[in-house]
Parts: sequence; C-alpha cells; structure tokens
Amino acid sequence: MKVTISEECIGCGLCEGTAADVFALGDEGVAEVIVDEIPEELEDDVQQAADDCPVGAIEVE
Ligand code: SF4
Repeated sequence: MKVTISEECIGCGLCEGTAADVFALGDEGVAEVIVDEIPEELEDDVQQAADDCPVGAIEVE
C-alpha cells in the first residue's frame, strides 16, 4: 500500500486522529505521511482515513 496526500489538504487533523502512526500535521499545517511503508496492520486505518477525509486529499494505491 502506498499513500500520498494532495495539495487539497485543509489540515483538519482527522487523518491523524484515525491513524496517528501514519499521518501527522506538519509545520505548514497540512498532513504528512510519516512512514515510508504502511504496516499491514494499519492498512485498514489508512483506508478509513482516506474514506473520511473531507476533501478527498488522501490517495491510496
Ligand atoms: S483528513 Fe484530509 S484534509 Fe484533514 S488533515 Fe488529513 S489529509 Fe488533510
């Protein structure tokens, strides 16, 4: 699984709340992916975060 965050991110922090081991709000107030590889046990949380993102900024491959 690969995950990226687009420029659409509004920094609401929802994804960090869902998967704090994968997403974190950075200095610029937008979310960043903080791991290189998504651990298998976190894939469901990452997918949930992507589904819940209010602006659809999380892209999962
Ligand atoms: S849920 Fe979406 S808009 Fe909110 S911080 Fe995460 S990527 Fe950005």
